[in-house]
Amino acid sequence: MIARRDALTLLGAGITAAAFPVTGRAAPQFPKGAIIRTVLKDVPPEELTGGATLFHEHLSLAPDFMPKWMSLARSLFPTGGTRAPAQPTPPPQPAPPYFMQDADLMAEEMTAAANDGVACIVDGGHPDMGRDLDFLKQISTKSGLPIVAGCGYYAQPFYPPEIAAWDEDRIARELIRQANTQPVGVLGEIGTWDVMTPDERKVFRAVAKTHLETNLAIFTHTNFGKGALEQLDLFESMGVKPGRVAIGHLGGLNDPKVEVQRTICKRGAFVGFDRQGGPGDAAQVKMVMALLEAGFADSLLFSSDFSSGGNQLKRNGGPGYSKTVTVFAPKLREAGMDEKTLHGILVDNPRRLLAFVPRPGKPGR
Ligand SMILES: [Zn+2]
Repeated sequence: MIARRDALTLLGAGITAAAFPVTGRAAPQFPKGAIIRTVLKDVPPEELTGGATLFHEHLSLAPDFMPKWMSLARSLFPTGGTRAPAQPTPPPQPAPPYFMQDADLMAEEMTAAANDGVACIVDGGHPDMGRDLDFLKQISTKSGLPIVAGCGYYAQPFYPPEIAAWDEDRIARELIRQANTQPVGVLGEIGTWDVMTPDERKVFRAVAKTHLETNLAIFTHTNFGKGALEQLDLFESMGVKPGRVAIGHLGGLNDPKVEVQRTICKRGAFVGFDRQGGPGDAAQVKMVMALLEAGFADSLLFSSDFSSGGNQLKRNGGPGYSKTVTVFAPKLREAGMDEKTLHGILVDNPRRLLAFVPRPGKPGR
């Protein structure tokens, strides 16, 4: 019999699997024909059991995206408390080459993440954020780490001019075209910048229509949890099943009673704790443990939304893309989470979100 680690290496990605042993939890069941669409190929969900799948990160953004984001977002940051993001001050204008345009460096970071127990990373960008699909393919090829690319439009301040001009069906047509001609594997991140604007409502409805046509899952961006239920209401009103939706940035709600998160779990959608590895962790750990206590382990998703300064990279002495696994997970263990539950959240839940059965005759490339 070959050792488990050898078997996983033989499966292709060369991922060390020691971080999240399977300890008897029932493996999730996927519908017949379900796949996870990575930028290089469609992968059976059963192949990504060797580590965590991080459902919301950024590997490719335009160099001016974060500076613009920070200057716009400053007015939205709640003052005090733990709700501000971990690294609120990125470098004003990154010196060239920007790390998200340096394929060798990023491939190195992907390999390091894989060695830390990451099996797959979802990039939540799309063209309005400057996401470059070829760059994602390049770093996935170089590192061997499977990468899932997002599809959609981000949020009001970042929309291209056509969003104002198009109606929701025209927007849906464009997204369906992308989903049918590009190797995108999820609709995300789809955002409301603050209170949902009429254009954002149009985009959300178009995303719901695209989901119904393509079966791609959806994950969202909220302003620290604001409007989370409204987002889910909108998707459900369009006929989207809650189990295909993750509502994002809910670690920012800072509500020890986790009322909104609990409601979302009860309705069957996923709750994203997707910005950790920093000073906000303590509050998030409390909320996660409260949801665990309430029986919602199957509804939780963890990721770090890696996007700000290059000082977080391994190359620069930071935790890198694996901080969910190497920084956040240990804090949960310390708070009492067992390995089986952690494995379920990090390895199984994201695969349950992402796996979909492609429509016949629509190859996605
Ligand atoms: Zn993001």
